[in-house]
Amino acid sequence: MRLADRMSQLGTESAFDVLAQATVLEAAGRRVIHLEIGEPDFATPAHVVAAAEEALANGLTHYVAAPGIWPLREAVAASLAKSGRLATSPDRVVITPGGKPVMFFTILALCQAGDEVVCPDPGFPMYASIAAFAGAGVVPLPLREANGFRVDPAELAALVTERTRLIILNSPHNPCGSVLTAADVEAIARIAIEHDLVVLSDEIYSALAYDDDCPSVLDVEGMAERTVLLDGWSKTYAMTGWRLGYGVFPPALVEPVTRLVVNSVSCVPAFSQYAAIAALEGPPEPVAQMKAAFRTRRQVVVDGLNAIDGISCQLPGGAFYAFPNITGLGRPAAAVADGLLRDAGVACVAGTAFGAAGEGYLRLSYASSVPRLQEALAGIDAFVRATVG
Ligand code: PLP
Repeated sequence: MRLADRMSQLGTESAFDVLAQATVLEAAGRRVIHLEIGEPDFATPAHVVAAAEEALANGLTHYVAAPGIWPLREAVAASLAKSGRLATSPDRVVITPGGKPVMFFTILALCQAGDEVVCPDPGFPMYASIAAFAGAGVVPLPLREANGFRVDPAELAALVTERTRLIILNSPHNPCGSVLTAADVEAIARIAIEHDLVVLSDEIYSALAYDDDCPSVLDVEGMAERTVLLDGWSKTYAMTGWRLGYGVFPPALVEPVTRLVVNSVSCVPAFSQYAAIAALEGPPEPVAQMKAAFRTRRQVVVDGLNAIDGISCQLPGGAFYAFPNITGLGRPAAAVADGLLRDAGVACVAGTAFGAAGEGYLRLSYASSVPRLQEALAGIDAFVRATVG
């Protein structure tokens, strides 16, 4: 069957490919420790599940408004105000099935052939994939280990041309775990304002910044009019399977994005949206407990990796990923990731799955129990000794 040419531009998310390979090994009786998929290993908080059950029992099983039910849009605006992240109004909030559609809809609404989109490299692979699918040029913005894997504003400024339409930021960052500083976001905002650019600020890991502070370009005066805030429930509330995310859009984008929702998914299930309200308005303890567990695991993984010859790992400031430097092993990242899965039963993702600048790194998700993480670290250590040393 002949596919449309544009399909050749659409990439994929390698973590799902690694998961598929790991599942085949498990079906053949092999034990695999899963450090490839980026999702919290905790259960969705009970009061959130109860709210969905109640909504289902009340017959909330039909279509609802495309941009989301009004009480949830209000709850999102209220929670952003309460946390001090952003003063906005509910009519700028659009509820989507996960955070990913916010990328898809924003890029499709804004970008076309002749435009350029600046994407972090390493970075979440969907940004470049969707930008290319939309016909735009992808401009990788290197995040360098020497700069703590943060955006270097001078390097960003040098990449901006008159074709640049959109800058994509992600803090806390997948896969590097880096968090932008107040000085970073200020400098980046200046560039966006000076060149009249739109920014997509992916803050899906905002609740998982370990040093409390997670500055956003939205903190800078004038940025709300040119910034799309992407966030959601997947990571913060362990709700990946509920497919719940949101965007806060500049007014001119709300109608086009709502039209994209109508044309694609119609709306997010009503019972999921009532669960989302319960998550935002319910007790904060479950989120705090998950964050505390991630903090402990982060230390276990980083210490364990740094104890292995040929591997070094910075302490990530946020999210639940470690991004160790494996150049000391003298082999390409993809070969190391394949070997770890095949020989050590540790599933992880090669840094190159996140862009060319990911060569020499692996991404390990530490959304797994401490005993499992320790077992994985022992497996990595044994693999390195056997193959390198
Ligand atoms: N943004 C980043 C950086 C992510 O890592 C992910 C998921 O892995 C998403 C967005 C999308 O999350 P969701 O499952 O809500 O679509």
